[in-house]
Amino acid sequence: MLLEVSDLHVEFRTRDGVAHAVNGVSYAVDAGQTLAVLGESGSGKSVTAQAIMGILDMPPGRITGGRVLFRGRDLLTLKEEERRRIRGAGLAMIFQDALSALNPVMTVGDQLGEMFVVHRGASRRAARARAVELMERVRIPAAAQRVRDYPHQFSGGMRQRIMIAMALALEPDLIIADEPTTALDVTVQAQVMDLLAELRREYDMGLILITHDLGVVADVADKIAVMYAGRIVEQAPVHELYRRPAHPYTRGLLESIPRLDHKGRELYAIKGLPPSLTRIPPGCAFHPRCPMAREVCRTDVPPLYEVSPTRGSACHFWRECLDGHAVDGPDRA
Ligand code: SF4
Ligand code: MG
Repeated sequence: MLLEVSDLHVEFRTRDGVAHAVNGVSYAVDAGQTLAVLGESGSGKSVTAQAIMGILDMPPGRITGGRVLFRGRDLLTLKEEERRRIRGAGLAMIFQDALSALNPVMTVGDQLGEMFVVHRGASRRAARARAVELMERVRIPAAAQRVRDYPHQFSGGMRQRIMIAMALALEPDLIIADEPTTALDVTVQAQVMDLLAELRREYDMGLILITHDLGVVADVADKIAVMYAGRIVEQAPVHELYRRPAHPYTRGLLESIPRLDHKGRELYAIKGLPPSLTRIPPGCAFHPRCPMAREVCRTDVPPLYEVSPTRGSACHFWRECLDGHAVDGPDRA
């Protein structure tokens, strides 16, 4: 296994008390696989990624338990130098906001080239040539000229392509993309997502795609982990999850995707808001918002029940959810 996160816990000290941002998250990604991590903001999906990458704000963020195995070695227990070496060569991250992630006063060619100068000891001239090559790989038109431009001279979509080029530069084994297309408009979103999926295949990398938008992951992900209040509430191969969700929260998310074939049908929206991480409700954290909640849900934390060898659901009533009428009617059950 390329990356195996197990029972990860992360806390933050805030003025309101300790925020339990990640509460026992486990997931795994292999080479050539795409895992989508889905959740509303504050669900812990980005914090988990930051813990993997070693870029948690510390303090106040603190990893209080768990393991992050990269090719079998625990990044959390290695010596800092070793850890940095492994992360540097094997892992790369793409952020939502390319404009703040890129240096505004450096040409994109210099920024891309610097990766090769610093990490590969390339000459300036060779680095420039590699920068142009990378820009071509992510299909930036007229790359040989545009390599001299600054980040603000590119459109949002092109800037995100530059971020992807930066991530690819050292040919990592795994890319973590945190809401990589959220800031873009819908057509550009699809193009960037397609490019990412294509490069993932071409380089045979693992990809963790963090998003709050279930609509963007259907075509690119192999499996999905749905997060709520710092926990994984459902985990499944993507098509199984779409066809028959085994958790009421996932079902709510699916029912709130606008669909062309359901024109005029009222969209279901999950009532209420995600809980504060300093005051996570007892029992199932989703119970105040769950249409299926019963007494036991207020007291007993649901473990991640095994639905099948490849699926898990943290709902006491996952069977009922799974057997309930399918989200889009009996024809898709
Ligand atoms: Fe809803 Fe209870 Fe299942 Fe939680 S455990 S999702 S409250 S039915
Ligand atoms: Mg986030």
